[in-house]
Amino acid sequence: MVQRQHSHYDAFVRNVRHSSRIELSQSALKKNVNFLKKKLGSHPRYSAVVKANAYGHGIPQMVKMLEKCGVNHFSTASAYEAEEVLDHCSDSSEIMIMGILYDQDIDWAIQNDIEFYVFNYDRLPLVLEKAKKLKKKAKIHLEVETGANRTGMTEPFFSKSLTFLKRHQEYFIFQGMCTHLGGAESRSNQFRIDQQISRYKKYLAELKTRKFMPKYRHIACSAAVLGMPETHYDLVRIGVATYGFWPSPDIYYQHIQEIGKGKDAPMNRIISWKTDVMDIKNVPQGEFIGYGTAFQALHDMRVAVIPVGYSNGYPRGQSNNAHVLIGGRKAPVTGLINMNLFMVDITDIPGVEIGDEVVLLGKQKNNTINVNSFTNYTQLINNEMLSRLPTAIPRQIVR
Ligand SMILES: *Cc1c(COP(=O)(O)O)cnc(C)c1O
Repeated sequence: MVQRQHSHYDAFVRNVRHSSRIELSQSALKKNVNFLKKKLGSHPRYSAVVKANAYGHGIPQMVKMLEKCGVNHFSTASAYEAEEVLDHCSDSSEIMIMGILYDQDIDWAIQNDIEFYVFNYDRLPLVLEKAKKLKKKAKIHLEVETGANRTGMTEPFFSKSLTFLKRHQEYFIFQGMCTHLGGAESRSNQFRIDQQISRYKKYLAELKTRKFMPKYRHIACSAAVLGMPETHYDLVRIGVATYGFWPSPDIYYQHIQEIGKGKDAPMNRIISWKTDVMDIKNVPQGEFIGYGTAFQALHDMRVAVIPVGYSNGYPRGQSNNAHVLIGGRKAPVTGLINMNLFMVDITDIPGVEIGDEVVLLGKQKNNTINVNSFTNYTQLINNEMLSRLPTAIPRQIVR
């Protein structure tokens, strides 16, 4: 077991309350993980993608919750995120950096047994030098170019990399050979994905010829896990589906077709976002609410003031255009979303009091606000809206 070096910060222990809170459902996560594991069968390893603060859910909490569900491999987009995972995961969990790792942080990665992608041949001699100095093997994944034209090395460099790794095996663990599919969620893009898969197979053939295999072959994201079993190989990188979202309507309809029913809900949203009524106002007919003339009261109204704004991740595009839940009823947003406040119409919701719970996202009694409803108004996609939720909002794990 490696002696891992933890950074020392606990930024979220504060004396006073934040203006909103996020709740994360352990039982919903369990259902998602079980459903996805069933799809995978016993072989491929489940790596939970926790980049972008675990798609806005919160790395510290999600790492703990996922470990409870038996997931102990985590993928991040940067060394910075990997360090946060490291601070919260158990010593036996593994961490993989799929994206940015600066030269100066390679030592840190090797020392802490963090796996990382290598997508440039030129990185290998540098990693070798550091591994030699530390007298410790570097765990690397070679990422190959198959058609996404993002990161990933082309065939000549892949070939050179294999020669290099073979020659310096005492300083490298060939942990993986991988690529990323450029849009596996869309059926109209399938021809591109098919081409990527066949190019990936050519790289695999080269590995076979050279008799040099990595521990994990991996290419699948959520959409590929759900829709293309042939892409599962030895490890899968599941982001959005872990959090209970279908990657796209295409993938959901394919699932529905496969199970032969009209609807099915094997996955569940984990996140709820809540706050409280901060104040209540009676607004006479003809008055305007908030900044400018965005909303005029056409009749006498009662409005509730909500202590959340666009600086807290509530999109400004929802101005005059969304609902929150109070007392289990839908209260429409009136006027602009301000930096830290917005107002909602509670004229038709009797008995609302200061301090009442407000649901911005999630369920209250028989009503639900989906992330999807945000995306209808704002052009933000699910991932974008969620990943913008500030890390400062406290996240609590609930049953
Ligand atoms: C984000 C990401 C994933 C996960 O994608 P989802 O569609 O959210 O499952 C997998 N692999 C890489 C390289 C990624 O950047």
